[in-house]
Amino acid sequence: MTGRTHDLAAFTALSYILATQLIQPISLGTAIVALSANLVGGLTPDIDQPTADLWRRLPAGSIFGKLLAPMLGGHRFLSHSILGIVIFGWGFSFLLKLASHTLVVDQQIVWNAFMIGYISHLIMDTFTREGVPWLFPIPFHFGIPPLKFLRIKTGGLIEKAIIFPALLLVNVYLYYIHHHTILLFLKHLI
Ligand SMILES: [Zn+2]
Repeated sequence: MTGRTHDLAAFTALSYILATQLIQPISLGTAIVALSANLVGGLTPDIDQPTADLWRRLPAGSIFGKLLAPMLGGHRFLSHSILGIVIFGWGFSFLLKLASHTLVVDQQIVWNAFMIGYISHLIMDTFTREGVPWLFPIPFHFGIPPLKFLRIKTGGLIEKAIIFPALLLVNVYLYYIHHHTILLFLKHLI
């Protein structure tokens, strides 16, 4: 999947949680940082490729990408697995603790938003031809549907013409059906 689709998928997963779970009122600062963490989480698994969107969006990112990507074993290895979820989840909570003096936000909410984005990435990639090595270091790539030729090609027509608009529609549907919950959440925010 492309970075654009991953951004939208991460946001959709966050919207789903927001619309369907009872979320305690949070500060505007926490909401903004959580939304950013969600989008970063949605792109993080692809830091194993030097051309990843996350690297392109960071200053000097391409240099870091070239250095770091080979350490993660190449594209769709460690960062695209359950083990990767645990390691990157731990790493992100470590970063949050380091920033806790300057970043006064609800760390649990921000961490949750990051993880929702991260996991949404792996779920979306499971529908692509390459599949996802969920059980890394076992080198088997899982995919839905199991037959590879039925899966989606990254950046292909199906992704652009069907998956992306479908995700947009899911958001419209979620915000429409659950507008009471969402408006109440936003009211507490302002
Ligand atoms: Zn990926």
